[in-house]
Amino acid sequence: MIADPSVLVVGGGATGAGVARDLALRDVDVTLVERGGLGSGSSGRSHGLLHSGARYAEADPVGAEECIVENSILREVAGECIRDTGGLFVQLDGDDPDYFDKKRAACEKVGIETDLLDEAELREMVPDLVSTVERAMWVPDAVIYPSRLVAANAADAAASGAAIHPHAPLQDLRVADGRVTGARLGGSVDGWVEPDYVVNAAGAWAGSVAAMAGLDVKMAPARGVMVSVDYGDVDPVLNRCRDPDDGDIVIPHEDEAVLGTTSVPVPDPDDYEKADWEVERSVKECAAMLPPVADVEVVRTWWGVRPLYDPDEGDGDRRGISRGFFVLDSAEDGVENFASVVGGKLTTYRQMAEATTDLVCDRLGVDADCETASRVLPGADDAARLDEFVARYDGQGPTDVDIVGRAL
Ligand SMILES: Cc1cc2nc3c(=O)[nH]c(=O)nc-3n(C[C@H](O)[C@H](O)[C@H](O)COP(=O)(O)OP(=O)(O)OC[C@H]3O[C@@H](n4cnc5c(N)ncnc54)[C@H](O)[C@@H]3O)c2cc1C
Repeated sequence: MIADPSVLVVGGGATGAGVARDLALRDVDVTLVERGGLGSGSSGRSHGLLHSGARYAEADPVGAEECIVENSILREVAGECIRDTGGLFVQLDGDDPDYFDKKRAACEKVGIETDLLDEAELREMVPDLVSTVERAMWVPDAVIYPSRLVAANAADAAASGAAIHPHAPLQDLRVADGRVTGARLGGSVDGWVEPDYVVNAAGAWAGSVAAMAGLDVKMAPARGVMVSVDYGDVDPVLNRCRDPDDGDIVIPHEDEAVLGTTSVPVPDPDDYEKADWEVERSVKECAAMLPPVADVEVVRTWWGVRPLYDPDEGDGDRRGISRGFFVLDSAEDGVENFASVVGGKLTTYRQMAEATTDLVCDRLGVDADCETASRVLPGADDAARLDEFVARYDGQGPTDVDIVGRAL
């Protein structure tokens, strides 16, 4: 059994670990529970792009601005959780030239730096880029190693007094008189706790956690595949400059390139089809930018599920659903000490955590400022230490399995 915490955070992805860290740094007594290893949900299975925001600039300027703000912060505080590669948006023969111009103008409007490259600069940067490229612009994209990022947040939370429990699923909530009065935890904890406040940071599973409190949080999960291939000759992130579609991003790792992705609605984030066409299409579309990736060995493939929030219950491929985040205060729905944080991106996890922590502190009467925008993560300058944190929390996901642990 464990002691009753002031705040119980459910879900140990980037968002939950970020909330636990932010609360602990504000001297709030917090316990985080995760049903698997840390990061085993979407965080450790994502594509691993630290968005500059350019992908969203023309369609969602608010989301794009969130990205560029967080991108700059994480470069300062996350050290070896990030690899600063830069990124390119490439317009190929046949792609709409107006789209390229609109994106560039939209980037400038929200403060995302761009740089139009001439042919020689482009060839020097990516010698294997397809010959039918018409134009390319540089943007400040980068690569995230999510296993390290999640574990470093958890380690800092623990160093500030948080209790972190991987392999401890929330199994049930007891609600009485409009309040959660108890939480049944399984696995490594195995018992009931009585928190003052519960934060639902369960990502694509937020609907099922909310349902335990009798609440309705409408998630619209969408799966996507990543295909890692044996190819280490690309330095920047490559983005196809067209409306977001299947297979339009290549993420460079040291000896591999991670191709992706797709977007297919799934009814259940734990039980979904993994289709061969997704792998084939991702390789084919990425090879349209970078032809050699079609002919090298596929090292591994994995799927993840986007935690999209869709209160309007739309349909289609879900690319149209906002990638913005929402902090849902359930006091308005009759459960006064429960909030859910849903949607968003790995790139914006810190901002999601800050907004959630602000709400919780307000409810608990805690007056303390957020420090996470300037406080460097532990181990940031020491890859081996970060990788020890990953091992401590059983936090290895497929996204960065080719990188994490190398330094140990
Ligand atoms: C294919 C794909 C590619 C993506 N690529 C990118 C990208 O390149 N860049 C980017 O910024 N974002 C990307 N994203 C989005 C990003 O992965 C997510 O937005 C982010 O990781 C969500 O983090 P989270 O902590 O909110 O959710 P999660 O990481 O899913 O964490 C929620 C956790 O809750 C746990 N949980 C569920 N139920 C319970 C329970 N009952 N008890 C305890 N724990 C529970 C789960 O196991 C899970 O670990 C991508 C997503 C997908 C699917």
